[in-house]
Amino acid sequence: MSIIIKDLVYIYNPSSPFESVALDGVSFEIKSGEFVGIIGHTGSGKSTLIQHLNGLLRPNSGKIIVNGVDITDPNISLTDIRKKVGVVFQYPEYQLFEETVYKDIAFGPSNLGLSEYEIENRVKESMYIVGLDYEKFKDRSPFELSGGQKRRVAIAGIIAMKPDVLILDEPTAGLDPRGRDEILSQIKYLHEKYKMTIIISSHSMEDMAKLVEKIIVMHKGKVELIGSPREV
Ligand code: ATP
Ligand code: MG
Repeated sequence: MSIIIKDLVYIYNPSSPFESVALDGVSFEIKSGEFVGIIGHTGSGKSTLIQHLNGLLRPNSGKIIVNGVDITDPNISLTDIRKKVGVVFQYPEYQLFEETVYKDIAFGPSNLGLSEYEIENRVKESMYIVGLDYEKFKDRSPFELSGGQKRRVAIAGIIAMKPDVLILDEPTAGLDPRGRDEILSQIKYLHEKYKMTIIISSHSMEDMAKLVEKIIVMHKGKVELIGSPREV
């Protein structure tokens, strides 16, 4: 799936004393199967941009074309888009809501018309990918887990839907160096095995340089630079 972003503008609290222009004319293209990193300092607009990519936020102006469909069109159903564009947000604990890890991860795939057996296999596979032992964690409450474990459950829930586009907002935040390397190498594996289009954001080039094909540098709500990791 390709994504084309054209002149995106997003303003928090417009016409109020708290007005904040978070996206200020953002344009770029992501080709099907590309592995892209978005970097930028805190407050540069990464999360705001990512929340637009599955329609959670609607821009004040500009277009977002996903596989030829303008998802800013209010007449478009976002349900189908959200099955194909999977987003793990920056604070994924808010994406957990079921009483067990199993149910949480199974929630997405259970809306895809799969059999119980297929759903179970998807839960097992995605828990394996994120490094959570199936037997040990499947019946635990997601709310009792550590921050890093919660993040893994949230990632597994999105991976289990096998989206065409996988977007992860700061997937390595709160993980130790080993956890960080594990998650990044598993994301790379998903890219290679399923040819998923992948977008990850980070503060640091360190996470990105070895992984991605293209880097988008955000600065104060604008795209400052787009290039290969060597160029930026
Ligand atoms: P970080 O690296 O800290 O996650 P970011 O690049 O993801 O930062 P955003 O969270 O997109 O940046 O924020 C962009 C701008 O929008 C900032 O100036 C921020 O203060 C503002 N902003 C973000 N969320 C809100 C909100 N809910 N209400 C008002 N302003 C917001
Ligand atoms: Mg952010």
